[in-house]
Parts: sequence; C-alpha cells; structure tokens
Amino acid sequence: MPDCLFCKIVTGDIPCHKIWEDDAHLAFLDINPIQEGHTLVIPKAHASYLFDMDDPSYQHLLAASKQVATHLKNALQVPRIGVGVEGFAVDHVHVHLVPVSGVGQLDSSNAAPADQAFLVQLAQKIKKI
Ligand SMILES: [Zn+2]
Repeated sequence: MPDCLFCKIVTGDIPCHKIWEDDAHLAFLDINPIQEGHTLVIPKAHASYLFDMDDPSYQHLLAASKQVATHLKNALQVPRIGVGVEGFAVDHVHVHLVPVSGVGQLDSSNAAPADQAFLVQLAQKIKKI
C-alpha cells in the first residue's frame, strides 16, 4: 500500500527502532510509548483489520507476538506484557505489546513521544537478550 506508514517501515523507506523480525513479521519500538519498551508487531504484508486476516496469517502474527512478548519480558524484567489491538491510528494491523506491572497501564492516553536517542539505546538493550 503506497501511502501506508507501516508498509514504508517494512520496505525501509521510513526508519524504525527494530527489535526483531522474521520473514513475515517485524517488531519495533513505538515512538509514542504508553510505557517504556512499548513495541508494535506487524505483518510485513499489508492487512487492515486483525480479524479479517486469514487464519494462518492471524495465527502466525499471534505466534510472532508471543515470541516478541517473551523476549521483552525477559529483557525488561517486567511481570507481564499487556496486549492491545485497535488500529485506528495506522490502517495496517499492529499488535501493541506493552510492558506492564499493574492495572491501568494499558491506557493509550498515556502515550507520549519518546526521546529518539533513548529509543536507540533501548532497542539495542532488548536486541542483546
Ligand atoms: Zn501497510
């Protein structure tokens, strides 16, 4: 999709703080995190709505998200990784993985721009684990 922000991230036309990828998925830090380490997992192929995806693509996306969430939990030493999907901001399926340590920490009204240099360091820290 030519005008899709996340398709441009997949092709590399727009940079991202990548922490993981496989053939069909990409995981990168959200630049407006709700919590430190807030990550987005996306399918590389454009899709608009999670529950319109075909079953194999849907299941692979959730399996990829599980893998990234396990990695994030270990890297950041948090008790849980919260999950959210709504997709109004960017019309390309993305699974929000948000490190949480208590109730109410998935509130998207807490999203705020992160310092870019901090995100570079955080992505490197997460990738090392
Ligand atoms: Zn797209």
